[in-house]
Amino acid sequence: MDTRLIIPLDEFPEEGLRLNGSLDASIFGIDSEALQSTGPLEYELEAQLFETELVIQGNISAAFRLRCDRCLTHFDYTCAPDSLALSYEVKGKSALDITDDLREELILALPCYPKCELSGEECEINNDFGDFRLDKDPLSGVDSSTPSGKSVWDALDQFPTE
Ligand SMILES: [Zn+2]
Repeated sequence: MDTRLIIPLDEFPEEGLRLNGSLDASIFGIDSEALQSTGPLEYELEAQLFETELVIQGNISAAFRLRCDRCLTHFDYTCAPDSLALSYEVKGKSALDITDDLREELILALPCYPKCELSGEECEINNDFGDFRLDKDPLSGVDSSTPSGKSVWDALDQFPTE
């Protein structure tokens, strides 16, 4: 599988260039206990040349195996940042290698604090120690984020307001 995405600039087609394909997962160089690259970098891009500026737009994604920060369970996660837009000054160049930029876009889009919920699974920490999700459904009957039934914010009610 390809490990570089190099865009040829000689005789660049006026209507633009469609770039669809994948790059080997080894380009990430990520293989740790907490974060492992498990799939290729898939790309669907459209390149347009405006005089000497190359504009690239489209979508990229890649599969990773993350470890939940709370319960340490591993789960699969497909990282797909919002639509990509890159631009390059390419005056005098005959080709452009955008591999490193695609790689960086994906790595920056990885969650800083991976949690089971990202994979659609319930974190088992929630079952054992109460529900710590900040985005939990207010209609679920759970009024408090603490197992005792008291809200951690109750103490603020005692706080003098004047
Ligand atoms: Zn978890």
